Amino acid sequence: MSERSAPPGALTLVQALVNTLDVETGGDALDTAEGRAPFGLTEDTVDSARELRESLRAALLAHAGHPPHRAVTPLGDLLARAPLVVTVDTADGSAALTPVDDGPLLSRVAAAVAEAVTAGTWNRLKACEAADCHWAYYDRSPAGRGRWCSMRVCGARAKMRRYRAKEA
Ligand SMILES: [Zn+2]
Repeated sequence: MSERSAPPGALTLVQALVNTLDVETGGDALDTAEGRAPFGLTEDTVDSARELRESLRAALLAHAGHPPHRAVTPLGDLLARAPLVVTVDTADGSAALTPVDDGPLLSRVAAAVAEAVTAGTWNRLKACEAADCHWAYYDRSPAGRGRWCSMRVCGARAKMRRYRAKEA
C-alpha cells in the first residue's frame, strides 16, 4: 500500500486540484489550457479556482493539525455558494447530495466533500506539513496521524532538519 495512492471516490478531484500548484517551484498547472481542461476551467474562471484551491489546502492542513499556510477565504464560505440538494433514485431509493447547478468546479468540489463526509474519508485527505511541499495526500496510516505526503521524502527531510538544529 503506497502512501501516495489515490484517495477514494470523488476526493481524487479535490486532491488533483490542490496539487496543480507546486509550492516549492511556484509552477502552476492552471496557467496552461492543458492544465485547466481536466477541471473545466477557462481563463475567466481560473482565478476563483485558485482561490478555492488555497482554501482547500488550508482545510487539508487543518486535518493534520496545522495552521493555514496563509490567509484564505474560509472553505465553508466558498462552498456555501454552491448549494447541494438531496436527490433520490426512484428505482432503488438511494439518495445522494447533488449540485443544484451541475457542472462548475465549485459545485463538483462541494459534492465531493459531501460524499467524502458521508464515507468518512474527508478528514483523511490532508496537506503535507512541510512548508515547501503542502502537497495533498490521502492518509492511509492505521491511526490516521500521518503528517507528511511521503515519509521517505518530506518526513526524512524534517527529521534531518531537526537533527541539524540540535547539532548547531
Ligand atoms: Zn510533502
